[in-house]
Amino acid sequence: MADLGLVHASSGNVSVRVGDCVLITPSGVPYRWLRAEQVVAIDDEGKRLSGVGVPSSEWRMHAAIYRARPDVRAIVHTHSLSATRCAVRGALSTTTDEARIVFGPSVAVSRHAFPGSWELAEAVAEAVGPEGKAALVGRHGAVTVGAHLTEALLLAEALEQAAAASTE
Ligand code: 13P
Ligand code: ZN
Repeated sequence: MADLGLVHASSGNVSVRVGDCVLITPSGVPYRWLRAEQVVAIDDEGKRLSGVGVPSSEWRMHAAIYRARPDVRAIVHTHSLSATRCAVRGALSTTTDEARIVFGPSVAVSRHAFPGSWELAEAVAEAVGPEGKAALVGRHGAVTVGAHLTEALLLAEALEQAAAASTE
């Protein structure tokens, strides 16, 4: 995410589901200093099972999506600039053929709620929906989901491109 310019400093977070637990990036650690052992394993109530870091403050958002979507095994949350701009404006209609093929005519924007809250978690899970690949987080950023990490990451890149090419 950092190499692709989708995040800066410690913004955003990533998780992957492994069996009954979720591996998630630690809270507030800049990506350039992030070490593998800081990645935290948590259960579905946010309890740390292993790892030395504090789980991402957005673990509820990840948990709510996993709960609603058994097909999802990886989640990427960024504050990539164009996607965040659309999240602030409250709309993203796709304009390019590529974006329409990947995301359909539009990407849903969640209602605004406080970062890290269950209210935000539920709003984002709802915006992703039963079959969606992505959602914008109202006044905040972007979320993409996939069957594996590579898929969720490539979708985050595609979502940023779709937002940059949008005319909103
Ligand atoms: P964390 O560093 O706690 O993962 O938070 C980053 C973020 O994007 C909050 O929405
Ligand atoms: Zn965020």
